[in-house]
Amino acid sequence: MRQDSLLTIKNLRTCFHTYEGVLTAVDGIGLEIYRGETLGVVGESGCGKSVTALSILRLLASPPAEIQGEILFDGKNLLNMSLDEIRKIRGNSISMIFQEPMTSLNPVLTIGEQISEAIKLHQGVTHQEAWAEAVEMLQMVQIPSPEIRAKEYPHKLSGGMRQRAMIAMALSCHPRLLLADEPTTALDVTIQAQIVDLMERLKEEIKTSVLLITHNLGLIAEMAKRVVVMYTGKVVEEALVEDLFAEPLHPYTQGLLGSIPWMGRKMKAGRKQLQEIPGMVPSLLEMPEGCRFHPRCPRMMDICRKEEPPLVQKDGRRVLCWLWK
Ligand code: SF4
Repeated sequence: MRQDSLLTIKNLRTCFHTYEGVLTAVDGIGLEIYRGETLGVVGESGCGKSVTALSILRLLASPPAEIQGEILFDGKNLLNMSLDEIRKIRGNSISMIFQEPMTSLNPVLTIGEQISEAIKLHQGVTHQEAWAEAVEMLQMVQIPSPEIRAKEYPHKLSGGMRQRAMIAMALSCHPRLLLADEPTTALDVTIQAQIVDLMERLKEEIKTSVLLITHNLGLIAEMAKRVVVMYTGKVVEEALVEDLFAEPLHPYTQGLLGSIPWMGRKMKAGRKQLQEIPGMVPSLLEMPEGCRFHPRCPRMMDICRKEEPPLVQKDGRRVLCWLWK
């Protein structure tokens, strides 16, 4: 059955004009997010995950950033909208949570003021109604004594509570799409688990679609249904989570999965240790010719050094690699 698409990205290319040259952080990617689903985006630092999310909401200063392509939300191209139109969408139909809550919480306003301001701005309700809803949101994200916490400044809250407050703010206008950029990375493990449970529960209640950006494959396994793997600004593999974990097709994905421990994992005979991907992610200013992963790839062939691999469709999956051509 064909699923209903909420956001479609076509040939997105985001580059930064710098004194050293043009850095292409996202290089012609395409992806689709369906209504109500969680799509995971995974890859090492600098692979273009966060720039993709920031491009969707047009949160990159232009110049130096330049965004090309199409980002269709409900059929309308976000890249063609005026700043006024895009501001109405931010924090309303689409909102974002960041790794570090202080990035989006204002240190000089109380938590309640910030959440109620967002509600007032987008829903046109009175101050009292917005404040009551802000307190309700804090309760929903399980912040104890929400009436008291609402009157406190962000620095008075613990890291976990700040993250919850940011989630409350992001969800206060019941967005149809939530961009979650490393939402649990800065937190300790028990708080991480609570935040994951919370996001899952809220997703069910509010029916929000989620774009989950992380380098944490465990989080992807827990929350996402489909996943795209990015490397140097390109999508190198896309699959259902269970298929990707059962049989990663791209050597980079194989490397990522080989480098993490997980429960119940069977080591191949004679293999005692986790494997790491050799080498480093190349600089955006010095991309290798041919396949960008070839200097680090254990399965590199002659053609990989010379020609860019094609995006191959295989059993409903996509993989950017000569091995599958
Ligand atoms: Fe490795 Fe070649 Fe595939 Fe690139 S195209 S991932 S170098 S096998």
